[in-house]
Amino acid sequence: MHELSIADNIINAVKEASQSRGMLAVSKIGVRIGSLSSVDPDALTFGFDVLKRDQGMMDCELAIEFVKTTARCTKCLYEFKVEDCVFVCPQCASSQCDLVSGQELEIAYFEGE
Ligand SMILES: [Zn+2]
Repeated sequence: MHELSIADNIINAVKEASQSRGMLAVSKIGVRIGSLSSVDPDALTFGFDVLKRDQGMMDCELAIEFVKTTARCTKCLYEFKVEDCVFVCPQCASSQCDLVSGQELEIAYFEGE
């Protein structure tokens, strides 16, 4: 289950960043997950909940923001939401599109004191 190692990475990164800012406890971590990143939010939450006990972050909550896949047409520059992985511009029907979002897997913010 690769969500477990992702959760581990998130916890370690936030721990390091929060300690360097002099925070004593982290209460909330916000992550952004793109729909193309093949991360299952439920599995990630589960993995996070398992690991946070060992990491002394019992009271920390994981907030997941799901990012939809969007692409931009290289011909007419129209930006659109991609449904079912169909990369075709709805404006001009070109299939020459650049991915704008959907591959995110990042820590957006964390809160604590
Ligand atoms: Zn187009």
